[in-house]
Amino acid sequence: MQDTIWDTAIIGSGPAGLTAGIYTTRGALSTVIIGGFSWGGQLMLTTEVDNFPGFPEGIMGPELMEKMKAQTIRFGAEFIQDNVTSVDFSKRPFVLTVHGSLITAHSVIIATGAETLWLNIPNEKELIGRGISSCAPCDAPFFKEKEVLVVGGGDSAMEEALVLTKYAKHVTIVHRRNEFRASKAMQERVFKNEKISIEWNLEVQEVVGKDKFEGIKVKNNQTNEDKELRADGMFVAIGHKPTSKIFKGLVDTDEKGYIVPKVGAKTNIEGVFVSGDIHDHTYRQAITASGYGCMAGMEVVNYIADLK
Ligand code: NAP
Repeated sequence: MQDTIWDTAIIGSGPAGLTAGIYTTRGALSTVIIGGFSWGGQLMLTTEVDNFPGFPEGIMGPELMEKMKAQTIRFGAEFIQDNVTSVDFSKRPFVLTVHGSLITAHSVIIATGAETLWLNIPNEKELIGRGISSCAPCDAPFFKEKEVLVVGGGDSAMEEALVLTKYAKHVTIVHRRNEFRASKAMQERVFKNEKISIEWNLEVQEVVGKDKFEGIKVKNNQTNEDKELRADGMFVAIGHKPTSKIFKGLVDTDEKGYIVPKVGAKTNIEGVFVSGDIHDHTYRQAITASGYGCMAGMEVVNYIADLK
């Protein structure tokens, strides 16, 4: 594989990367997808997806990703389940390093998505995996009949709380304002669920616990009152940050690290394209990521046609 010069190398294998792969392979481009060690993106960490068109009864996130992956492979994409550790966009063809192996390609699609944001408060990092998590579909079964906190007020927090109710005795959502930003539909499901209660206007100050999570210290930002909330676990669901570290200084990004496309899916580097949550901080849906993947795939097909 090291001797091959691929028409395109796609970095990332969420809906953006895999949809791009469907379009590049069908456009007769030799395509390698370097999908990441934990391939499949955020949908691998979710349960039922009810808003992806074509699945009227809903589909489990990981199953949807398996199907997308199978579709790219059916059309001839080569899939590598590993991480790209560095990129060299100064050479033509471009050079990507995957744990010591070099991959060369005439074009690159960056589709590395986004990752969990943490609260960044004292004692949080130490207790991740010891009662603190960001993935209810992965870790909820560990909290059978337990008391759990969920921090956040968006759709992710609602989803985490709802998943947790299947196992936990009780779930408390801790939010820093007095209203959620989640969609009305998700909010309704939360308000209707008898296992969920809500603590408004609380800012989390510190995690309590030595070897395992025991609770949080919080401040009410309306009354300035400090108190402690005791629980067996905490799920942090306050959003995501773009996975763009290896592209820093090479491709134009905004102050948060999201890649800024120049026109369509094109970046500031000719031959390097972008798609999905790595540049879209507005919609961040599986279907929009797929749409962006389609755009990037089609643009790459045109780019390679012009190049050859
Ligand atoms: P989000 O919409 O950005 O919400 C983040 C939440 O965390 C907000 O309520 C925010 O509070 C709170 N927050 C942020 N920083 C905080 C901090 N340092 N301390 C305490 N709270 C903090 O993120 P998201 O919920 O992950 O959703 C992201 C996107 O994915 C959205 O477009 C959403 O619709 C989508 N999504 C959809 C589904 C679904 O349809 N099933 C599921 C998950 C996500 P404020 O409200 O005060 O800013």
